[in-house]
Amino acid sequence: MSREVHVVRHPLVQHKLTLMRRKKTSTSQFRQLLEEISMLLAYEVTRDFPVQLERIETPLMEMDAPVMEGKKLVVISILRAGDGILNGILKVVPSARIGHIGLYRDHDTLQAVQYYFKVPQDLEDRDVLIVDPMLATGNSAAAAVSRIKERNPKSIKFICLLAAPEGIEAFHKVHSDVQIWCAAVDEKLNEKGYILPGLGDAGDRLFGTK
Ligand code: URA
Repeated sequence: MSREVHVVRHPLVQHKLTLMRRKKTSTSQFRQLLEEISMLLAYEVTRDFPVQLERIETPLMEMDAPVMEGKKLVVISILRAGDGILNGILKVVPSARIGHIGLYRDHDTLQAVQYYFKVPQDLEDRDVLIVDPMLATGNSAAAAVSRIKERNPKSIKFICLLAAPEGIEAFHKVHSDVQIWCAAVDEKLNEKGYILPGLGDAGDRLFGTK
């Protein structure tokens, strides 16, 4: 498995993404749409997760019914915009464990600088989803994955909304084994590291800070 990029082309995802890109979309609509798309992305990302049979009782009889196998999923949000995706995933996987990594982009170097790190202690034997809406330079995503790999999880997948070709390249140069899941791969980055055509600053649009 190497350098996999999965674009979820489902019409519902694509339609909602278009609404998110529009500059006139309000903060509350943007937040709601990100949550909805994230639910749909989570549905696709978890498609190959194994299930095991558990003996249960329906009101009528006993049966062997499928349940998700193994330890609880861990979702790690790259602050702060990652929380928009996290909230959507939690709607469909409410028992997931949660971690946060705070990384800011140094405006001169565009390198990721860590200011916060809090994740569940036992990541061994767990599947981890690392989430951030924008895979731009790839620096934050690659740094977050490097930190999480130190904890030896069973698997890591990276989920975003939009990815830039440059970000995918940079990310997979360091972590060729980590699948990227997104709703679209856009054209390119501009000189400030923003994705074009993109949707602007995901954090500002999500939290209404501009
Ligand atoms: N982060 C954002 O919020 N938007 C971009 O276009 C790139 C990075």
